Amino acid sequence: MNTENTPINTNVKHNRAGRILLAVLLILILLFTAAGIFLFGINKWQVQVTLKGDETVRLEYQEPFEDPGAEAVFTGTLFDLPAFDDLISRWWDVLDTRPEVKATGNVDTNELGSYMVSYEASAYGRTGTAHRVVIVEDTTPPEITLKTKEDYYTLPGHPYEEEGFEAVDLCDGDLTESVESREEDGVVYYTVKDRSGNEATAERKIFYDDRTAPVIDLKGGDVSFYVGESWKDSYSAEDDAEGDVTDKVKVEGSVDSSKAGTYTLTYTVEDNFGNKSEVKRKVTVKGIPVNDESKAGSGKVIYLTFDDGPGKYTEDLLATLKKYNVRATFFVTHGFPAYEDVIGKEAKAGHTVAVHTYTHDYATVYASTDAYWNDFNKMNDIIEKQTGKRTTLFRFPGGSSNTISANYSSGIMSKLVKQAEEKGYSYYDWNVSSGDAGGTTSPSGVYSNCVAGVSGRDASVILCHDIKSYTVEAMDDFIEWALKEGYTFLPLTAYSPKAHHGVNN
Ligand code: ZN
Repeated sequence: MNTENTPINTNVKHNRAGRILLAVLLILILLFTAAGIFLFGINKWQVQVTLKGDETVRLEYQEPFEDPGAEAVFTGTLFDLPAFDDLISRWWDVLDTRPEVKATGNVDTNELGSYMVSYEASAYGRTGTAHRVVIVEDTTPPEITLKTKEDYYTLPGHPYEEEGFEAVDLCDGDLTESVESREEDGVVYYTVKDRSGNEATAERKIFYDDRTAPVIDLKGGDVSFYVGESWKDSYSAEDDAEGDVTDKVKVEGSVDSSKAGTYTLTYTVEDNFGNKSEVKRKVTVKGIPVNDESKAGSGKVIYLTFDDGPGKYTEDLLATLKKYNVRATFFVTHGFPAYEDVIGKEAKAGHTVAVHTYTHDYATVYASTDAYWNDFNKMNDIIEKQTGKRTTLFRFPGGSSNTISANYSSGIMSKLVKQAEEKGYSYYDWNVSSGDAGGTTSPSGVYSNCVAGVSGRDASVILCHDIKSYTVEAMDDFIEWALKEGYTFLPLTAYSPKAHHGVNN
């Protein structure tokens, strides 16, 4: 029975050992699986990528980008036990724990902006990454270059005229067009900004200089007039930098208008920069020409003046004046257009032709100052046509003291007198009347009024009208008488006595 049982027992023993072996194998498999989970799963074995240098790199425009790179390590822990990890890491040393890092991403330093560079490394089925931001920026301001011209200067008190400039930015290129400039207290300030807002400034100190002397303008140039006449010096001076410098003009020399002779006046002026100019004027004071030389310079002068013509009798008058070689003055109008050409004959004979207005109509000429000068200029146009030149001499219709003008425009005479002076015009009244405008209608009446009027006067300005036959008739006798008495007849000039009455309106 025992023998029978033995094999049976042996079989039982075999089966038990197999089961134990199987169980051990199962346990080992479980252990390795757990270790595997610890190694690669739960305990985070990984590839760590670490940047070299900063996470954010700032680069100036066009500054080359030198990537500092990154490094990678395959790392992890086991059971979180340092001693054990130390052991494990020694084991790892023999393996590849420093995988190669690959960088991707493009940095264009010719373009402003932010760029991303990515770093990646892999080992044992694990991958790690890291990123770096590269900012390409422009912090450099543009550069302004000021151009200068040789020997350049600005007139004091004048704005600076630009010599030129350039502005260049590394990033934006030519910014010359964007430069703004302003001038203040002798300095020009320039500013320009690039598109990144970097501002450049420059300054230019203006060099002021004045190398041109003032110009003196002598009104009338060289002048000549008769003894006893008056002359008022008039000049102005203009400097390129300072403008009107008339006040700075110094006049040397003087004129004695009571003594015939040639006088020289010297005008000098100097600007603030020491530029001087000098001009001279010759002033000739002429002796009064008289038929009787022994009476030269006696000062007894008659200025015959004839208004309202030319007319029907004017040519007869010219003949009488010619007969005695006497010169007179005609204040002409457009009253008798048929005789207009006589104006030319008057001038040709050496008489003075002056304006007495075109219409001689009070309501027209004294309506306004503009109306007056319009009418005046119309007559001057005719004078210019007949004589070849315009005149600055005139007589107001009714004289400067007339009050009839107040009927048309209050205060007009005061305004006209002032405007005439501003224009450099001279107006004449009279201090002797022939009476031919009212009281007298005969040659003998005119004659006696004239004789009485000039007697005892050094300078007589006689009011006559060449449109009156009796006045023209009276002249032969009157001139003959006056010449015998030693009077000299002269035509009016700008320097002659004006015989002003005084303004009443
Ligand atoms: Zn008149």
